[in-house]
Amino acid sequence: MPIVTATRLVRFNAAHRVYNPTWSDERNQATFGKCNNPNWHGHNYTLEIAVEGSVDPDTGYVIDLGTVKEVAERELVRHIDHKNLNLDVPFMQGTIPTTENLVLACWRILAPHLQPARLVRLKLWETENHYVEYDGR
Ligand SMILES: [Zn+2]
Repeated sequence: MPIVTATRLVRFNAAHRVYNPTWSDERNQATFGKCNNPNWHGHNYTLEIAVEGSVDPDTGYVIDLGTVKEVAERELVRHIDHKNLNLDVPFMQGTIPTTENLVLACWRILAPHLQPARLVRLKLWETENHYVEYDGR
């Protein structure tokens, strides 16, 4: 049975400060630069959600991408959109809110909700110049 990958994009914006609270101000500034701004800064994020599966003969879909959007909005986006990742988002507590840590959290949240498809890759864009990818390994 052929396997097809289907991808849905969702967008959100959020504020953060990237710093390690156990370090000195000097070490944080040297490591994280302007991302360490104590008064926060924000990004317009784009998350690409790629799922794979066989094509359902009744629908012609791997999964209805409208369902993927609804899952992402319900489980993820409404908890982080227009929020401060350091202060407002319980699942980011205790982690430095880098794009890397955020994509790992997105995976943990989304992966259980996408049957009959299977989550195979997340690509999280923090700016138009950089993104991180995670495939569950
Ligand atoms: Zn940032």
